Amino acid sequence: MAFTYYEIFLYPVYMSKRNMGKSLRKAGYIMAWFSVIINFIIFAFKFLAGYKISSIAMVADAWHTLSDSFTSFIVIIGFWIASKPADEKHPFGHGRAESIASLIIGIFLSIVAFNFLKDSIIRLHSRIWIEYSTFSIIIFSITTVIKEILANFSIRIGRKINSPSLITDGWHHRSDALASLLIVVGALFGNYFWWMDGVMGIGVSIFILYITYDILKKVVSLLLGEEPCPLLKKQIEEIINENFPFVSNVHHFHIHRYGDHVELTFHIMLPSDMKLKEAHDIVVNIENILKKEMNIESTIHMDPVD
Ligand SMILES: [Zn+2]
Ligand SMILES: [Zn+2]
Ligand SMILES: [Zn+2]
Repeated sequence: MAFTYYEIFLYPVYMSKRNMGKSLRKAGYIMAWFSVIINFIIFAFKFLAGYKISSIAMVADAWHTLSDSFTSFIVIIGFWIASKPADEKHPFGHGRAESIASLIIGIFLSIVAFNFLKDSIIRLHSRIWIEYSTFSIIIFSITTVIKEILANFSIRIGRKINSPSLITDGWHHRSDALASLLIVVGALFGNYFWWMDGVMGIGVSIFILYITYDILKKVVSLLLGEEPCPLLKKQIEEIINENFPFVSNVHHFHIHRYGDHVELTFHIMLPSDMKLKEAHDIVVNIENILKKEMNIESTIHMDPVD
């Protein structure tokens, strides 16, 4: 596999020999901090520039960028809480904090998209477009590129380390990149087609709303608790059949995910004349194999079969 540019952030993962979960989180931390810092720099720059050329639009946009630092900070808080070990009150660990962070960022993103939609409709209706100076257009062009790079990094790394909050934050960066791009396009061609940035704004905001819906749907479903996917069931059945050919009819799966901590219960059938000690040994063996091979914490219920 070739080394790609964003993988610099995955350095802790590649370097780690033990505790994969911890190093994955470290990569996520670095990415999120990178987003916070870059957004803060863009904020400071836009704010000062907007102040200097007394552009209300740019100062307003600067505040939005500062709020972007804040959403990336929620990713960091999510990782931080998720990294805490299990305690008496939370015996399954804190892994779901990451999903909750993703939920919060997703809700913020849908608000951003709704506002964007509203502004685009108003702009289309009033036939007014804001005039930007060449200087502002240059700044928005640079912002577009930087934000898209942040989006690209966050989404790719989020997928690699399986972090929904980082992916959601990445989509927020992308929506910001598209919004800045529309300002540039509108400023360049708005004189010819007054309706252009309004129409494109509606298109982009609907697209972002759809993405947000998809993200929130997945996160909520995960938090509510999901049926294990058929692939996972098949994998478990295969492991059991391979090691314990006399165990039959694996059924009634329940799975509970808490970040990287996975709890699984299911039923197996064992001969009814088997000794309890023997049956228990088998169950413990299966539990140990699933722990070793799939890092799943399982509890198995036995049904007798004649
Ligand atoms: Zn934003
Ligand atoms: Zn059963
Ligand atoms: Zn036992």
